[in-house]
Amino acid sequence: MGLPETMQAIQIKEFNAPYAVSKVPVPKPKPNQLLIRIKAAGFCHTDLMALNNEFNSPLPYIGSHEGAGVVVEVGSNVQGFAKGDHVGCINFDSSCGECPDCSTGRVIYCDRPQMKGLTIDGAWAEYMVADARTTVKIPESVDLVTAAPLMCAGLSIYGGIKKAGVPPGGSIGIIGIGGLGHIGTQLAKAMGYKVAAVDIKQTSLDLVNSHRLKPDLSLLVTEDPKDAMAKAHSAIPGKFPGLDATVLATDQQSAFDFAAAITRKHGTVVLLGQPDKGISMSFYNMIFRDIKLVGSLIGDTSDADELMQLVDDHDIQLKIKTWRLDQAEEMRQEYLSGKSEGKNVIVL
Ligand SMILES: [Zn+2]
Ligand SMILES: [Zn+2]
Repeated sequence: MGLPETMQAIQIKEFNAPYAVSKVPVPKPKPNQLLIRIKAAGFCHTDLMALNNEFNSPLPYIGSHEGAGVVVEVGSNVQGFAKGDHVGCINFDSSCGECPDCSTGRVIYCDRPQMKGLTIDGAWAEYMVADARTTVKIPESVDLVTAAPLMCAGLSIYGGIKKAGVPPGGSIGIIGIGGLGHIGTQLAKAMGYKVAAVDIKQTSLDLVNSHRLKPDLSLLVTEDPKDAMAKAHSAIPGKFPGLDATVLATDQQSAFDFAAAITRKHGTVVLLGQPDKGISMSFYNMIFRDIKLVGSLIGDTSDADELMQLVDDHDIQLKIKTWRLDQAEEMRQEYLSGKSEGKNVIVL
């Protein structure tokens, strides 16, 4: 076979410690698993939360839940995959099969899920095993460095846009143009929506306005919400002023009320951000303007397949900074400094 016995990986051995490269055994696939030679693996805010022991991850574990690579071994029960396939692995790996959500097919809400880079080994390694049922094929035309961050960041924002439940032709605001948001504005356009981009930084709005699929309207969160609503109504007219839905892809407290204020009466705010201190919002929009607040976790594999098709068909551009495995700690420090833009991906 020619597979090595050991590999390099970013294995977390203690919490709140710097990332470092370790030598660990190459895993063996179980009957439902694929062994994947990882080519690219993204860094997500959730990786930091795991490092800070916010998920009680069992030590040691290999980080990253955004992996893409090439299949090198196929488990005995796996169907539909072959050696050499380009694949991406969604962050959610497997489910218990017994809880109420598993028995009704909503496996991503499983009570006892296994998550790559959180409860089991992830993708910052030369090789990773992944349940084939949460693995998707990557089209030839989508490179693996682009595919990796789609497995969590891309799928999260896509899931959030879908969860808004806005019919085609409606309008969506993407609030927070970071790792998720800069993918979201393009996806929402590709899905046929009128799109508003909202951020606190003009440079972030400039980035999404440079894309082929650019938003119909850009707003700074520092604007007076009444002025912002007037702009939204003139750029994207509708029966009720404002956007049919807004998707909160940020942790910034100031964005929450702004999002609700530019959402139309009877519209929906979708929450993706996970701020440490929770979220607080004025009751005014919720009660007097009948705004609904819904959470969105991630998408499943059929959503991931749809996402791959959209990315393939519409040439969605991701802002990615690539790093080597031995630069993982440098990458984390840059992210902590707030200087990081777009997505960070380790290339192996
Ligand atoms: Zn993630
Ligand atoms: Zn379950």
